[in-house]
Amino acid sequence: MAELKTNKLKSQGEVRVRFAPSPTGDLHVGGVRTALFNYFFAKHYGGNYLLRIEDTDEKRSTPEAIKVILNGLEWLGISPDEEPVFQSKRINNHIAAANKLLENGSAYRCFCTPEEIAKRREAAPVDNKMYMYDRHCLKLSPEEIEAKLSNNESFAIRLKIPDGEVAFTDGVHGEIKVSCQEIDDLVLLRRNGTPTYMLAVVVDDADMKISHIIRGDDHISNTPKQILLYKALGFKHPEFAHLPLILGPDKKRLSKRHGAVSITSYNEEGYLVETMINYIGLLGWSPGDDRDFICRQELIDLFNISGIQSKGAVFDEKKLRWLNGQYIGNASYADHAEQLKLYAESAFENGIIDYIPDSIKIEDAWNLLHNRIYFLKDLFNDGNYMFKDPVSYDVKGTRKHFFNDDDVIKRLNVLIDDFNLLENFDIESIENVIRTRSDEWEVSAGKLIHPLRLACSGLTGGPGLFEMLEVLRKETVIRRLENAVKWIETNKKQ
Ligand code: GLU
Repeated sequence: MAELKTNKLKSQGEVRVRFAPSPTGDLHVGGVRTALFNYFFAKHYGGNYLLRIEDTDEKRSTPEAIKVILNGLEWLGISPDEEPVFQSKRINNHIAAANKLLENGSAYRCFCTPEEIAKRREAAPVDNKMYMYDRHCLKLSPEEIEAKLSNNESFAIRLKIPDGEVAFTDGVHGEIKVSCQEIDDLVLLRRNGTPTYMLAVVVDDADMKISHIIRGDDHISNTPKQILLYKALGFKHPEFAHLPLILGPDKKRLSKRHGAVSITSYNEEGYLVETMINYIGLLGWSPGDDRDFICRQELIDLFNISGIQSKGAVFDEKKLRWLNGQYIGNASYADHAEQLKLYAESAFENGIIDYIPDSIKIEDAWNLLHNRIYFLKDLFNDGNYMFKDPVSYDVKGTRKHFFNDDDVIKRLNVLIDDFNLLENFDIESIENVIRTRSDEWEVSAGKLIHPLRLACSGLTGGPGLFEMLEVLRKETVIRRLENAVKWIETNKKQ
């Protein structure tokens, strides 16, 4: 994309790009990356980002898959700038283009049946090369063609590949040159009258005035054929940039095996949009440094084709999870209040917590725990003790902190009394009680802190104890301590 002139493009809004998924399944990370890169590129140059649903494969395309794509893009905030184009509605345009090529001599009718072609393929000398159509029908005389037509014989329309070579500059891979001798006379319209992908994609991109095609590497071998098709139709071809594969951590092509799931599942699992945009935005593209964090606006401001790496990009779910945790850690309660409320309701419905907390309670728990969770829902899973008395205690913890010392019960009882007397059950007062008693009893503060934590949360680790107790509030803390004392009394070996 050497000739891209930023200023010119910015002022003239010439950039028109598209994401062109086939609606045959889920919207995966690879598709999302293609969509995002197109979107960033378009927005960077003040251009338009379009969506074309390539739904000509009737058997494999489904309305559900279309919905998944539209919803996925909406969730990511990258819905197209214009109404989506449905390829299936443009079949007449594709047919008209094939006929135009027939008329201008760039294409020809092929009456060969698949069986005839298969036979000739079998009879062809075996070598490593792919069998190419032998141009049998290119040699037919006008009379022979006329005869076949009046006989109602079905025919496909094939592009007549010219001599010479096709050369283009790929924005990612640089100069690419292919000899036309290696290109088959590709079918444009099938014998049943339906257009092939190769014809449809070129006609649609031309009609949609697409200026740049940014898509997966798997289409790089289609590009020379498409360029020939543009030429035959008398169109200037767009510029191309092919994105390298996305790999799993084992450097193999990313697949379900790696846990690679659809964007819908990432949404359902609780990944934030910011996380997905950030992570996928840096998947095979970099602004020239090795940062981990980038936001949508920075991606738009900085995006350029030259920052796309030509080698495969590794998708690492662990890192994605970590990044989500970072976003949650840096977010404020207000950013996610609504979503948190929904998670609280569902945690209550599932018996994970004992009641539906009000927003003050949720905010308190958020402030205490959001630096320690990877997903919003974890506030009510990992942090369920904020809203539910422990029903059991960490087993190792009980050995270490409940049963290790004969004085545990005695100390907890005194602390219960101390806490009861506190007028302000705040961090300072709680800490003061604990420090004072630890000095008085000549035991480390840990000797009090660990059993208190275990008694109040059932766990051995978590946020700062004083903060946690304050947020739990006096009544809850005392109830939990009393329950723990009873539990220790019952379970202590005599
Ligand atoms: N529909 C094609 C796919 O899903 C993309 C075609 C293109 O981008 O040219 O792989």
